[in-house]
Amino acid sequence: MEADGHIDPDTFDLQQIDLRTDVLIIGGGGAGSAAALTAHHSGAKVTVVTKLRLGDANTMMAEGGIQGADKPGDSPAKHFIDTLGGGHFTNIKELVAVLTHDAPLAIKWLEDLGVMFDKQDDGTMRTLHGGGTSRKRAHSAGDMSGAAIMRTLRDEVRNIENIKVVEFAAAIELLLDENGNCAGAIIKNLETGRFVVIQAKTIIIATGGIGRLHIQDFATTNHYGATADGIVIAYRAGADFCFLDSTQFHPTGAVYPEQNIGLLITEKFRGAGAQLVNIQGKQFVYPLEPRDIESSAVIRECHERKLGIKTPTGRVGVWLDSPMVDILEGTGFVEKNFPAKFRQFAKYDIDIGKKPMLIYPTLHYQNGGIRITPDAETRIPNLYVAGEASGGIHGRNRLMGNSLLDICVFGRRAGKNAAEKSKQITPGKLSLNHLSQYYKQLHSIGIEKEKTAIAPIILPDYVGKIG
Ligand SMILES: Cc1cc2nc3c(=O)[nH]c(=O)nc-3n(C[C@H](O)[C@H](O)[C@H](O)COP(=O)(O)OP(=O)(O)OC[C@H]3O[C@@H](n4cnc5c(N)ncnc54)[C@H](O)[C@@H]3O)c2cc1C
Repeated sequence: MEADGHIDPDTFDLQQIDLRTDVLIIGGGGAGSAAALTAHHSGAKVTVVTKLRLGDANTMMAEGGIQGADKPGDSPAKHFIDTLGGGHFTNIKELVAVLTHDAPLAIKWLEDLGVMFDKQDDGTMRTLHGGGTSRKRAHSAGDMSGAAIMRTLRDEVRNIENIKVVEFAAAIELLLDENGNCAGAIIKNLETGRFVVIQAKTIIIATGGIGRLHIQDFATTNHYGATADGIVIAYRAGADFCFLDSTQFHPTGAVYPEQNIGLLITEKFRGAGAQLVNIQGKQFVYPLEPRDIESSAVIRECHERKLGIKTPTGRVGVWLDSPMVDILEGTGFVEKNFPAKFRQFAKYDIDIGKKPMLIYPTLHYQNGGIRITPDAETRIPNLYVAGEASGGIHGRNRLMGNSLLDICVFGRRAGKNAAEKSKQITPGKLSLNHLSQYYKQLHSIGIEKEKTAIAPIILPDYVGKIG
């Protein structure tokens, strides 16, 4: 956040506006696409700018499922309590209330759009437990739930001619007007390196997570574009944050074979009966605790109790006994119900229906982020946030399946509210004064711009030079 930016705010030319739109959505993942559809259907002219291709996003990679209390014996109230418990009661309750209340509607919305959820023989939804849930309410599409959702949303966005999608376009700063309202963004064209000025009546940040910052040098499950860009630009523009220090380490990331390091092994395995066991074959933690508790237990088993298993390259992990699922459910269940994971290990001659997987926690999710209201608003007028870039819904620990849910619930709310608000706005004069002021303030308290780094970093340095 304190690094140098891509442009000099004192000399950058804002006279030429390259594009004007009602609603500008930054980020073409799940939250951005949900917002785009809803903003469009609320009557706004919508532009989506996205860093890679539409759908190159964490949403596409999600595995286990999406939560929603839509079955007998369950209720949004029970989902609300579970979510608060998972977050250690730090969550902003008004946001959890909206999340859990809207959940059955979000799942119906997705199904109506065409998402093929797993069903039982009688046609009702097949649901499973996630860690920390008192009812089976995770709806899935095999172990590729995110791909099922993202492809559907992406197709829907593509099918609407009036939603303009600009790919390989990374937002590198927000623009405010003379009254401090958000009024647009500066975009870097990653193919030409050129900067583009977009003026918008309302703006939605949907830039996702931060896994590629590799906090504490952990491997990550995240896609390459998860580099905290939205956090950086919103901070410089004066947004409020909550729980930004809180990151989620998913307990079951692969540590073997080396090519799979950091790869997520969905919680759905534990939901289906797999346990975590140490080198002695002993279970050392109840398998369906919330993620922070599971991860701590794995780290303790490996480093304090020294009961982990070493890999040939010197890494350490514990077993996730996927064969137990085939023992419980019948031979072939793992292959049929976890096809992605089955293939990812079969490539290295490991049949996970017969052999367990070696796992260790992996950097997975940003629990906190830009503070939002139940209407997905921020403290900066005309700036909205949805998805993993936002903070408060999950408190200090997110439960499995609640993120695919929040991108739909708050993506849709952001889209609708940003579209409605845009109808009342007359654009003002674009300005980068907030950025000049920000750097002056840093200087005045003795913090100099970090000259060796430029933020937002857009892509991690190990992918090579861009733009
Ligand atoms: C492997 C994996 C498995 C998961 N499984 C589950 C699960 O089963 N259930 C669940 O609930 N959650 C799961 N999650 C979490 C969940 O998928 C994500 O938190 C959620 O999908 C994030 O959606 P999003 O729209 O906020 O971000 P994303 O889907 O990541 O989209 C963000 C988009 O913004 C773009 N972007 C970033 N910076 C910029 C910029 N500067 N300018 C323009 N565009 C930018 C990115 O390229 C990307 O396209 C999983 C996550 C991972 C990584």
